[in-house]
Amino acid sequence: MINMKLLKRLSASRKVTLMIAAAMLVAAGVLKLTHIVDKAAASADDGMPVLVIDAGHGGVDGGAVAEDGTKESMLNLDIALRLRAISELYGVNYLMVRSEDCSFTSGSDYSEREELEKRVELIDSAEDSVYISIHQNCYPTGQPSGPQVMYARDDTSRRLGRIAQTNLVSQLDPENRRVAVPASEKLYICRNCSHSGILVECGFMSNMWDVQKLCSDAYQKAIAAVLAASYIQFCGGTEAA
Ligand SMILES: [Zn+2]
Repeated sequence: MINMKLLKRLSASRKVTLMIAAAMLVAAGVLKLTHIVDKAAASADDGMPVLVIDAGHGGVDGGAVAEDGTKESMLNLDIALRLRAISELYGVNYLMVRSEDCSFTSGSDYSEREELEKRVELIDSAEDSVYISIHQNCYPTGQPSGPQVMYARDDTSRRLGRIAQTNLVSQLDPENRRVAVPASEKLYICRNCSHSGILVECGFMSNMWDVQKLCSDAYQKAIAAVLAASYIQFCGGTEAA
């Protein structure tokens, strides 16, 4: 049995491994909720920022499309919904930018710029929050694979970004040599949100091995579990130096 009191006595790396393992087992229905959840430890009342879960694209904007027709927007949503479910299990106070396949504008009114502006508005609407934007990468060749985290240009975002990248690599993709990097100026949300946050490219739509994994229930749950654990670790200041 795992609980937060026990977690407090463990080393940072052991702690995050256990949190991820527990979240994955709960997501898979193996562990019962009561085995791991200490809602008080993760509530907004404890001064933890609201977790804004931003599933990239949606509605008329499918994002990148894999050669088998899989749309990035759907994978982003699937992972975001699983992150929401795990956040609920841990008692994390969250806000969803979207929880279905939709956009703020549609038809002839659709405007990519307006979509992004509305997202920023929504993310910034929570008084104290950090956001995790969920996306998928794409490259002209099929070679590159694996997750990559980008962070907004402030120290808090960089800290969350480093925690998330370290956990994604150690738990899901040990051969991955990428490190968390500052978001490019082209990434509207990271450039314009006043709150801290990260954009996670979970894998490559241009790599069919990645797409196959990203479509699987187990891998989506695993990514969501790692992101939830990273947020909790970030809030607790428990990462190794
Ligand atoms: Zn995207």
